[in-house]
Amino acid sequence: MKKFLLAALVAQILFSNVAAAVEIIDKPIKWTANRERLIREYTLEHYGFEATEIEPRAVVVHWTAFGSCDSTYRYFYAEAFDSGIDAGTLNVASHFLVDRDGTIYRLTSETALNRHAIGYNWCAIGIENVGGVDGAEDLTVAQLQANVELIKYLHEKYPTIEYVFGHYQQVEAKKSGLFIELVPDYFAGKPDPGKIFMRHLRDYLEGDGLKFFPI
Ligand SMILES: [Zn+2]
Repeated sequence: MKKFLLAALVAQILFSNVAAAVEIIDKPIKWTANRERLIREYTLEHYGFEATEIEPRAVVVHWTAFGSCDSTYRYFYAEAFDSGIDAGTLNVASHFLVDRDGTIYRLTSETALNRHAIGYNWCAIGIENVGGVDGAEDLTVAQLQANVELIKYLHEKYPTIEYVFGHYQQVEAKKSGLFIELVPDYFAGKPDPGKIFMRHLRDYLEGDGLKFFPI
């Protein structure tokens, strides 16, 4: 009896230490040769070389500032901005979109080059979290858990990933040496995904050999 209890206890400890396999749902945005052409144009203008793929070096965490997963998905779906001024330029997109309930959607290939963080698109995987409307720091515990699992999964799969930072830390993150931007004064201040979320994310992931910047 005692032996059985001990074995059960050991099993319980072992299972609690095994990270649950992250669940990812593929929900691809529109991706044709036209998007790839626009990506190459973007990279040539902003980085000085043509590429459509990345070797991930960083993960940039965002919030959408849109109210719903659907509206964000619809926004990212188009390959080009269709406003009069920006017609014909590459639309923004991220690799992952995390809904309020923690559901993780993969919108593109994990190593696609997506436009989500000025200066870092050539090397960064983007995770968008639904929330942050009007700057409210309202991301959920389920989203936090999903981000922790997703980043652990990515770090294991791509050991080249060294940094995790929030979009609002884009200036501080230049210390990584990863920032490249050839267009002068091309910059937009960002508040996402909020300091509270980044503080929790750092607390859960810091021991995993990932580097964070001061929150
Ligand atoms: Zn952002």
